[in-house]
Amino acid sequence: MIETDKKKFGEGESSISERFNEHKSKSRKIALSNSAERKVKLRRLEQSILKYRDEICEGMWRDFRKSSTEVDLTEIYPVLLEIRFAIKNLPDWMRDEPVATPISLFGAKSNIRVEPKGTSLIISPWNYPFHLLFAPLVSAIAAGCTAVLKPSESRPHTLKVMKQIIDECFDANEVAIVEGGVDVSTELLKLKFDHIFFTGSPEIGKVVMAAAAKHLTSVTLELGGKSPTIIDETADLNAAVSRIAWAKFINAGQTCIAPDYVLIHASQKDAFIEKMITRIEKNYGAQPADSNDLASIINQRHFDRLSNMIKSAVDGGANVIYSGVSNTTDRIISPTLIEHVPLESEMMKQEIFGPILPILTFEHKEEAVDLILSKEKPLALYVYSKSKKNIAYFLDHTTSGGVGINISAAHIGNSNLPFGGVNNSGIGKSRGHYGFMEFSNQRAIMDQKMKSGLGFLSPPYTSGKQKLISFLMKYF
Ligand code: NAD
Repeated sequence: MIETDKKKFGEGESSISERFNEHKSKSRKIALSNSAERKVKLRRLEQSILKYRDEICEGMWRDFRKSSTEVDLTEIYPVLLEIRFAIKNLPDWMRDEPVATPISLFGAKSNIRVEPKGTSLIISPWNYPFHLLFAPLVSAIAAGCTAVLKPSESRPHTLKVMKQIIDECFDANEVAIVEGGVDVSTELLKLKFDHIFFTGSPEIGKVVMAAAAKHLTSVTLELGGKSPTIIDETADLNAAVSRIAWAKFINAGQTCIAPDYVLIHASQKDAFIEKMITRIEKNYGAQPADSNDLASIINQRHFDRLSNMIKSAVDGGANVIYSGVSNTTDRIISPTLIEHVPLESEMMKQEIFGPILPILTFEHKEEAVDLILSKEKPLALYVYSKSKKNIAYFLDHTTSGGVGINISAAHIGNSNLPFGGVNNSGIGKSRGHYGFMEFSNQRAIMDQKMKSGLGFLSPPYTSGKQKLISFLMKYF
């Protein structure tokens, strides 16, 4: 008996390996479902989410003091949008796509059929516990896959509601939540799923990819990293400040696409700081640490990590410009602006993942680009500028999963755009059609109706056949 057999699916009756086998056999039936049947499941999920909206908000308040408005905006609404987008487009996504056939394959017809990969495993992080579990689930259901869901263990109240929704909406042999921490993830990763969708840190992404490699299971890795924000000498500072403050401090900075640090033209720095302080106090009051709109830091380990990050940056010569105030009891760190941060400090090496904004300056755009290129490829890059030439320069000379021009973090809200990273910040894309495709296999189908087919090219290779090949090579 393997270790997985001792573990349970929540309060479920089946062991992990039994449930996995049930998903395997059910996946064959689900693969045959049509768009109408999948839409019914998505609508059921939509209705259930709306029914439990208050409970989701309450769970998140109890888990990390996240305000209900923020829960609606960043957890529930994005999932509803994903569901509605999938319902609207599913028939198109599922349709066979006829493609051209080269003349050398005369008589044949070619089609791309999109078929479900089969069984899927979705592992999600704690920072947007609802959104990052349910958005990939929507893609899996739309694609016709079964899904085992392994949410983060550190949001117990949210987890309880999520489990209630899943249990109410789905047969456990089709979609099931498994509760537990690293040990449970490790056991799940030993199983031969057809696709794994992981959202989390680059460090654990490597663990997931190594486990998937054992079965050659395909992976989508939605990871993180340091997303830079460039503000040039032409930027509209009022717009920049309000959008950066929103994207950086929402969820207390625990957002994968939060602006990690600001790279600002030296001529704009003082005005930016002054406006940013005003904006923070407008958003959260004169004592931001007391605001009910500022979420807490997930746990003591991360609270200590962020506190130490500030301390070691200051020890290395950094200067806290604003706040730095923390409330240990509730694990609150007030929005913090910091300058002169040494590049070799943890703050400039690690993803910050908290409400701390380092402000670095540049004189020439090349310096900003050099700094960005010295780091891993980011999940997002933000450019605040009124100069088309500068924007083009920054885009042409860098790379990232996504880009916001005069906006931050909002690109995740458009299901028409692929969402994801590059290399260290992620592999594969999610959302809308891109998410659907991650859970699908594109099957190449060629149908030759003509009797002769390619028979005329079979041996013996006569001089006539050789001439025909030469002709094709020359002209087609
Ligand atoms: P994490 O990588 O520590 O954990 C993510 C999930 O993996 C959890 O469910 C956890 O239980 C599981 N896990 C942890 N260690 C494991 C191991 N050794 N083996 C197998 N599974 C393991 O990430 P986190 O701390 O929960 O989330 C923060 C990270 O996630 C940040 O780096 C952030 O940028 C990233 N993130 C990315 C996105 C995105 O869409 N790209 C979204 C949110 C968060």
